[in-house]
Formats: sequence, structure tokens, C-alpha cells
Amino acid sequence: MKLVLLGTGGYFPTTRRHTACFLLPEVGVVLDAGSGMCRVGEHLQTTRLDVFLTHAHLDHIAGLTYLINVVPKHVLKQTTVHGDAAKLAAVRDHLFAEPIFPVPPPFRFEPLAASCQLPDRGTLTHFPLPHPGGSIGYRLDWPGHSLAYVTDTTASASADYVERIRGVDLLLHEAYFANDANNLPAVTGHSSLLHVAQVAAAAAVGRLVLVHVDPRFDDDGRYDLDAARRVFANTQIGTDCIELTF
Ligand SMILES: [Zn+2]
Ligand SMILES: [Zn+2]
Repeated sequence: MKLVLLGTGGYFPTTRRHTACFLLPEVGVVLDAGSGMCRVGEHLQTTRLDVFLTHAHLDHIAGLTYLINVVPKHVLKQTTVHGDAAKLAAVRDHLFAEPIFPVPPPFRFEPLAASCQLPDRGTLTHFPLPHPGGSIGYRLDWPGHSLAYVTDTTASASADYVERIRGVDLLLHEAYFANDANNLPAVTGHSSLLHVAQVAAAAAVGRLVLVHVDPRFDDDGRYDLDAARRVFANTQIGTDCIELTF
């Protein structure tokens, strides 16, 4: 199964990174609708699209307004945006309010069920994550391969979600902060690198790819990957437009 990282930055887009958006092109699944959504049409291989939102902060939803331009009309007609019911209502009532976006959303909104069937015998499940206003983590399983996506939460090896992502082949996890300076991860509801590596080790995942990284720096050198790899060896920083296989 292929995964294309369309947006690996946190909070605002830069010349190097768009904000959160991840595409499984073979099955038409998108995780989060940040500004990376502008790239979805370049990679999509299906005639329908299912978008799963973690929450409704702007860096995860702004790309919903791009869909009209970036996917063909026949795909748009079969596009469904899934998420927490209250957050979907907020997106519909505010992001798509006429003074902000003059065209009604040309896709369906559907509150998340406990689990969701995906093409090719896949199953998606989800779990709550602590974050201001709340976020949702996702786990996607197919026979023989699996993926988890955890963003906008404070990583901890003792967090409840660790059991939910146990043993996945690929973990996409946010790491907005390089370290815990000034207690910023806990204060802002985000994660720091070493704690994310500890989560990956505790959950015995196969591979860790860091996303939703701090966009304010133009290189990744301030992330001490050597230290992270001493905790969890198979760690890398995600970059926009790379394709991963899991
Ligand atoms: Zn975010
Ligand atoms: Zn957020």
C-alpha cells in the first residue's frame, strides 16, 4: 500500500511544507485536509475520495475549499468528508459560510461510525486524543499491512492511544517540537521528538515518520534524530511529496 505525504508541516504552509494532508492514492483515502490538499489531484488513482479529519483547526481543514479545483467533478460527486459530528458541523457552518466561501460544499459530510470499511478489505478505526478542543487518531488495517496517524496531541508512552496503534507497520506521528523547552508541548497540546520516539518503541511499530513539524525553521537540523534513533531506530522526518510503501 502506498502513502504520499502531501503536507508535513504544522500550522502554516511554507515553501518546503504544506500543512497536514496524506493520501493513499490506490484506495482514495485522505487523512486531514490541510493545504497539502492542493496536490491531491496529481496522485489520486480512484474515482471516489474519502477524507478523514482529525479535528477542525484550520491547518487540518483549509484544503477542503481547494477540492473544487484539484479533483475532477466526477470524483467530487463521490467525495465524503468524515469526522467528529460537531466538528463537521463547524466546518459546514463556518468554513463554508457564504461570506467566507461562496459555493456550497460539493461533497457529503458523514459523522464517523465506530469503524469504517475501506477498499481492498481495509478497516479504519479511530480513538480520541487529548488536544485543545480534542483530536482523533486513526488506525487503518489491511490484510498484511497497517498504518496509524496520530497528530495534534501530546505524546506519552503511557497515553491510552499507545494500545490502539500497537504493532502497526507505519506510524505517522506529529512532532511539532524538537524538545520540551518551556513545557511547550504540554501547554500547546503538541508533541516533542523524544516522547514520540518513546511512543513508537512502546507501541512496537515498524517504522516512525514524523509529520506536523514546526514550520518556522528552514532545515531539520534542530531535530536530534540520533537521540531519537537511540530510543526508536527506524525514525525519519517526513518531507512533502515523498511516497512511502507499507
Ligand atoms: Zn495542527
Ligand atoms: Zn490542532
